[in-house]
Amino acid sequence: MASGRRPDRHSRRRLHTESRLTALRTEIDLLNEQLLSSIQKRGRIVLEIAALKRAQGIDGYDAKREEEMLQSLLNSAALEPFGPAEVREIFKAIFRASLDIQDREGRKAMRVFRPDLVPESGFLVRDVPVGGKEPVLFLGPCSVETPEQIDAIASFVAGLPGLKILRAGAFKPRTNPYTFQGLREEGLRILREAADRHGLAVVTEVLDTATLDVVAEHADMLQIGARNMYNTELLKAVGRAGKPVLLKRAFMATLDELLLSAEYILAGGNDRVVLCERGIRTFERTTRFTLDLSAVPLLQQETALPVIVDLSHALGRKDIMAPCARAALAVGADGLMIEVHNRPDQALSDGFQQFDLKEFSAFLGNLDLRGARLSEPIMGGSHG
Ligand code: PEP
Ligand code: MN
Repeated sequence: MASGRRPDRHSRRRLHTESRLTALRTEIDLLNEQLLSSIQKRGRIVLEIAALKRAQGIDGYDAKREEEMLQSLLNSAALEPFGPAEVREIFKAIFRASLDIQDREGRKAMRVFRPDLVPESGFLVRDVPVGGKEPVLFLGPCSVETPEQIDAIASFVAGLPGLKILRAGAFKPRTNPYTFQGLREEGLRILREAADRHGLAVVTEVLDTATLDVVAEHADMLQIGARNMYNTELLKAVGRAGKPVLLKRAFMATLDELLLSAEYILAGGNDRVVLCERGIRTFERTTRFTLDLSAVPLLQQETALPVIVDLSHALGRKDIMAPCARAALAVGADGLMIEVHNRPDQALSDGFQQFDLKEFSAFLGNLDLRGARLSEPIMGGSHG
């Protein structure tokens, strides 16, 4: 527009429209802020309600209440320009987002994510500190087979340097129902007697709630196997059993699922839980499972619970045990589980993957247990 000349009608209309647009946009900006502030206020109230419900053990989601709120909105307001469909959509989005923040707050309240869950020195399994400065070896045969077998192995394990816990299964979760299923109660007795004779703490698997009492009576630590990681009734029951728990990752479980399974145990008042990476199932067939070493530092970012690695079941072979053990310790594992047998050639289960005693001595001789642990674990407690 040339200076000094009056704007023509066309320009005046444009100017008017522009200033009206600016005013309307200012109004929209203000409404956005008011809406946001109302939504945030609503969010804070939602969280307060959720906390009250959680304290009573009630779930945050209430479908009936949600429908009631929607109906009253649809009945009350003049539904213009937004009609019932839009109003429903807008409020559904608010309800969904409200559930999301409840979930987030709920997770913050979970024990498994508490940084102070485990003392700096770890916690005791009988007299063995797990999750402290020194890695712990969980050693023993796949299964309890005979008193002589367990005694020979227990005697060997007791003579090794460092921290160790005797492992062996009495109740065996075998894939094939016609293979050795374990010596059951008799196996527990054999295991307990050998462990006592050699002053060892012992971990053994519990398969179901029906046999939990007898297993807990004989074991210093209860193992939940990979196949039972999702067995929520068993998790709740071991949470109440008063014994430390070794919780294995299911071979198709995400790390989040493993952490939530641990929460089931912790929620029962039992904080002495060790997580165990034992390989996941992939397309790879050269190892029995695929060892997911990233699980160790990733879990330690989320939880203070100790994390160990079961090399025998992950690899299903002995020839690469040494480098994988060093790698597991280097990423910060709090311990290793390795199957050891006095006569692997005669073992009733997993013979192919078990070290004989001489092989294990050579393996351990070449492993600098403390030195191999290059990285300092990440989270609170022992991981501080
Ligand atoms: C075991 O440790 O004896 C065992 C059966 O392992 P997993 O549950 O990891 O297969
Ligand atoms: Mn085994």
